[in-house]
Amino acid sequence: MWKKAPVLSFKRGIYPNEQKQYTENVPINYLLPTAGSEVIFPVLMHLGAPCKPLVEKGQKVLVGEKIADSEAFVCAPIHSSVSGTVKEIRPHLTVVGTIVNSIIIENDGELTEHESIKKRESYDDLSREQILQIIREAGIVGLGGAGFPTHVKLSPPPEKKIDSVIVNGCECEPYLTTDNRVMIEESDRIVTGLKIILKVIQNARGFIAVENNKPEAIESLEKACAGNPNIKVVVLKTKYPQGCEKQLVNAITKREVPSGGIPIDVGCVVNNVDTVIAIHRTIFRGRPLMRKVVTLTGGAIRNPGNYKARIGTKLNDLVELAGGFKSNPEKIVVGGPMMGTAIFDTDVPIVKTTSGVLFLTEEEAHIPPERNCIRCGSCVEHCPTGLIPTELNADILKEDGEAFVKHNGLDCIECGSCSYICPAKRRLSQAIRTIRRVELAKLKSKSG
Ligand code: SF4
Ligand code: SF4
Repeated sequence: MWKKAPVLSFKRGIYPNEQKQYTENVPINYLLPTAGSEVIFPVLMHLGAPCKPLVEKGQKVLVGEKIADSEAFVCAPIHSSVSGTVKEIRPHLTVVGTIVNSIIIENDGELTEHESIKKRESYDDLSREQILQIIREAGIVGLGGAGFPTHVKLSPPPEKKIDSVIVNGCECEPYLTTDNRVMIEESDRIVTGLKIILKVIQNARGFIAVENNKPEAIESLEKACAGNPNIKVVVLKTKYPQGCEKQLVNAITKREVPSGGIPIDVGCVVNNVDTVIAIHRTIFRGRPLMRKVVTLTGGAIRNPGNYKARIGTKLNDLVELAGGFKSNPEKIVVGGPMMGTAIFDTDVPIVKTTSGVLFLTEEEAHIPPERNCIRCGSCVEHCPTGLIPTELNADILKEDGEAFVKHNGLDCIECGSCSYICPAKRRLSQAIRTIRRVELAKLKSKSG
């Protein structure tokens, strides 16, 4: 049936090689950290204020126990995903290369659960405020990669009238397949999770957005949606970056999120599919956010697949549990190849926002050398945000941050499309990303 429905999309964009064939049909496999292993919890794995540790060295902790929190509104608490003993609290390298104060727990392998984990039969008796409080206390954040606290996203200011709640199952980054698998394997939970959100954001319609390269997920979700007239599966063209919020909102509603704005400015709230499952899990099973589905893939890994990992598991332990390497990876990228970050050390924990790790061979990692711009205009033609990457690059070369901001450089979504499409292999998005972050930090310090 979905094939007959109109296939929606946004303007411009690119069509990178999907590379999903290695893992898209591999069911999710649960990998538990072994007894005696260190499980590491950085106190900042979300956008917002860092948490403060609530435990101390030597303290025993249980699965689901809150170990860090903050009084700040834009923050999400952190819970232990194992039972064991707090070994140390000290700065540790994270998966994105930053050093963050971290709670290091020695896993006793028992997985003894904290008394706060309690099942619930229904959410009918819960008020909107109670649901938001449960989501906040569970430490749920955007699991698509952004890590924005979900209770904040689901609390738009009263003057913003929300009429569309969009569940994002596009997963447009090449190689990554966790969203595809959760949509196939947990479609009923996604629909119920969306119904819970629609109880919080009242008078809105629900959309579940999936690219048309995921037919099994579309079929499974359409079955799960049957009998829910307020929820619709929308099929989108397989195009990058279809899963970025502004492009997704535009494809479904034809509304343009304004420069410097966010989806709530045009009446939309967007949540990743796995975030919606996390909401379902905490409402019905009382479990805080303690696990993450991660695609481990690339030519250097022995068993490419989708793995359900306990948050805090070290990447090198996870690789070992998944069967190790078949060859030494030339390059390791956390996230997808378009927006991900290269890392040089696997002694880092899986956090709430880790969707995938690519272990690339020399051949896969090869990037041709940069050459002079041939003024073909391809980067301009494909930029999904309508920017002029060559102009931004010129501002960067002149070290003119003011001109970069004037030319809307802050609207760049760091999608990498300009670099990908450039025949001269100019490192446009990399340069733009660096200066954009500097200018954003300047703005933030000005606004206090
Ligand atoms: S990285 Fe920025 S400038 Fe380049 S295509 Fe994406 S949005 Fe446009
Ligand atoms: S795509 Fe590359 S070569 Fe073409 S105009 Fe842009 S920077 Fe120049």
